[in-house]
Amino acid sequence: MSIQPRILVADDDLALTRTLSWILKEHEYEVVVVNSGNSVLEKLSTEPYDLLMLDIMMPGSDGLALLERLKADPRLRDVPVLMISSMPPEEATVRALGLGAADFISKPFRVRELMARVKAHLRVGRELNLAKAEARSRSEMVDILQEVTASLKPEEIYHILVRRVARGLKISKCSLIFANPGQETAVVVASYENPMLRDLPIELRRYPEIRRALDTRQTVLVTDVATDPLYAEAREAWETGGVRVPTRSAIAIPFVMKDQRAGVFFLRTTAEDTPLNQSDLTFAEQVIRAAVQALEKAYDLESAVVGREQMKTLAETDALTETYNRRALADKLVQEIERANRYSTQLACLMIDVDNFKLINDVYGHLAGDVVLRQLGGIFRREQRTVDIVARFGGEEFVILLPETAVAGARIFADRVLKKVASYPFGEGGSAIRVTVSVGVACYPDERVQDGEALLKLADQNLYKAKQEGRNRYRD
Ligand code: GH3
Ligand code: MG
Ligand code: MG
Repeated sequence: MSIQPRILVADDDLALTRTLSWILKEHEYEVVVVNSGNSVLEKLSTEPYDLLMLDIMMPGSDGLALLERLKADPRLRDVPVLMISSMPPEEATVRALGLGAADFISKPFRVRELMARVKAHLRVGRELNLAKAEARSRSEMVDILQEVTASLKPEEIYHILVRRVARGLKISKCSLIFANPGQETAVVVASYENPMLRDLPIELRRYPEIRRALDTRQTVLVTDVATDPLYAEAREAWETGGVRVPTRSAIAIPFVMKDQRAGVFFLRTTAEDTPLNQSDLTFAEQVIRAAVQALEKAYDLESAVVGREQMKTLAETDALTETYNRRALADKLVQEIERANRYSTQLACLMIDVDNFKLINDVYGHLAGDVVLRQLGGIFRREQRTVDIVARFGGEEFVILLPETAVAGARIFADRVLKKVASYPFGEGGSAIRVTVSVGVACYPDERVQDGEALLKLADQNLYKAKQEGRNRYRD
């Protein structure tokens, strides 16, 4: 549905307005007719028009005086005015043009000529409207982009965009929806009227305007939800369900991003809002075009950030066991000791060594030994809390750091790990290799421990004790 130019016709000659309306509507213009001069100013100041066709002589009003007032009003003077008159008085023509009328047509008019003039003046009027909307959206966009660049996260950007578009248009409802043509459901990623909303799935069956915008890739404007045929089915459902829908008009503006993700900006007004019109739509389309570019830029930035994070993760991770590597452990240990000092909390350290691992390698092979190590990494990672740190210290030795944990907690944890490992069927393809580990526990603070290195050393000594005393146990 494309947006039609709006023409206001002011003439008291009913036969003429009827014919004129009919002709203009045939040419796909939206026409509003008033029969008195008084209503002209009122109409023009409540809704924007692309063209005014004004009768010079109407009862109780002087067309020329009205024209003069229009041209003196900064909000209205840009609307092109086509004067209509049944008389061909040279003087009136000259005066009207002198007062700023765009053109003059005398009755009876020839349809072809009339349409040519209407078209020419509408073009001027529309270009002006577009330019105004563009200027408005440009200043709006400067603000939006400033806010957007301050934030990197797409979710935050979604919220900035719906808030800005809603405020720019002074309407209460604006949502950003991702969906793909042909799909039955879409996802609302942000909504101005409900800032807490995140990723709400909706059934497109209930939103015909969104579906149409997605399918046609064209903006859909529904001026009145209560009468638009697009809602015939939906209205029936509302009626049978006893649903009162406060929406008055709706605009769905589709977009497709570089990465082929598609969606719509969905704007709705209720009876309390000012109705959405052509220039709002132009404004919204322009803001949204720029908004989509801002989003694309944000995604590029995000993937760059994600790329950096992936690199970091890779550099910190032991490939076989997917736990931290020894270098990352060294960093974490420094951080955790520092934190324990600053907040006067405790830190527990478990050094874990596989019992008789040489034998496992010998019996089942080195590859099976690797599988055991990987499975151990999995067990330790599952046992940890999100704040705990699991690392492969080297060979078949692991270290687990438990922040804010004292000896008692570390013992419970060690016990649980021993049981988990001892009961786990290691290996692949049903070989069920039995494995045990020994654990040395050390805690910080401790008078023997000044730093991370000393903590590891103490844990290693206790590990040695556990081995000495028969393996498959912990010592602290
Ligand atoms: P203990 O109970 O005293 O710890 O006996 P152990 O056999 O485990 O003895 P030790 O700790 O001295 O031996 C570790 C062995 O683990 C030696 C090495 O071959 C093996 N190993 C070290 N890294 C890997 C690895 O990445 N993969 C495999 N499959 N084996 C490894
Ligand atoms: Mg060892
Ligand atoms: Mg060992």
